[in-house]
Parts: sequence; C-alpha cells; structure tokens
Amino acid sequence: MAANEFGLPLVSSPEHYQQRIAQSQEQELVDLRELIPDLVLDIRYATSRNLLGVALYPTAGAYLRRPVAEALARVQTVLAQRGLGLCVYDAYRPYSVSVRLYEQLQDENVAAPPWRGSRHNRGCSVDVGLVEQATGRHVPLPTDFDELTPAAHIRFENLPNHILLNRTVLLAAMQAQGFVNYPNEWWHFDHYRWAEFDLLDLPFAALR
Ligand SMILES: [Zn+2]
Repeated sequence: MAANEFGLPLVSSPEHYQQRIAQSQEQELVDLRELIPDLVLDIRYATSRNLLGVALYPTAGAYLRRPVAEALARVQTVLAQRGLGLCVYDAYRPYSVSVRLYEQLQDENVAAPPWRGSRHNRGCSVDVGLVEQATGRHVPLPTDFDELTPAAHIRFENLPNHILLNRTVLLAAMQAQGFVNYPNEWWHFDHYRWAEFDLLDLPFAALR
C-alpha cells in the first residue's frame, strides 16, 4: 500500500483503484446520478459558491463507495414517502482538494488536516440538504451549506419550529440508514463503515 508524506495509506493511481475494486466490489465509487436519478446535485466545489470562492473541481460529480451510495439511495426512497428528496452538496472529495482547503483555511474544525484526511476522501461522507420532490425547491434548514455559524450545530435550538422539524427529518432519515452526523455541521454525515475504506486521490474523471 502506498502511503502519503504523513504515513497515511492513500490510493492515488487508477491502476491501484481498479485493483481494489477487483478485490471487493464495495470499493467502487458509484456515480450517484446513475444510482439515484432523481437526486438533486448542487456541487458547490465545482462552483465559486464555497468557502474558498473558487472552483476546486473541474466538473460537478457526486460519488460514494457502493455500500454508502446504496444506503443513500434508501434514504431517498424513505424521504419520497414525505414528498421530499435529498440535495447533495458534496460527496467523494479527492484528498488533494482537502489538502488545498486546509492550506487556505488553516482550521481543523472546518477542513480536515492533511495528516488525518477527510472521510469525504474515503468516499464515505456526504453533505446533504432537503428539497421538495415535486418542485425541486430547497426545504428551509438552519443555514446554507458550509455556513460555519453557531446555527450550523445540529443541536442549535433558537430557530423557527418548521426549520427544527426539517432538520430532524433529515437527521432521522440519515441515521436510520447508518449515517452519523458531524455535530458542528447539520449537513455532514459519515457512513458508519468509513474506516474500512482508504483515502483516495483521484479526480472524478479517473473513476469511470
Ligand atoms: Zn462534509
């Protein structure tokens, strides 16, 4: 296994990635647009509407490891019973993009440091909001994605009741399928099996 400069196992060549998939299909990063066709994507790191104000991805893509993607598909199915759906802001994020975020922001609470890496780099984390299925309109939640204010905390209570309810609906739907929330960010969820998957540093174009 190749390791990065901090001794972390890191998959950074397409050959190595394909080798891992040959060993286990669960290693595959699944294109969420194919698995969940009605999923709304708002991939902020492919735009300038993010913490750095510049696009960090050349194209918008949303990928998760197979069991994580399948869990997210189940969340979408359950939400549909309420007329709701998920909006994905970010999913798999290449390790080098996390390194760039950390270098710019220099805050471990906001960006995973290079010596730890992010669970997004493992294809096991997803940033999500809610939309109305029929209209695609965003459902009100406490803050915008990546708006790092006290209101982003999952237990922040000083909010209108309908917003608290929407946050609870999202949290409960995600938890029921094995996702664990990161308390500082109502939108961030890690799949409980994240430790089984290595950090990855491949662009979206290399995943196909
Ligand atoms: Zn996140």
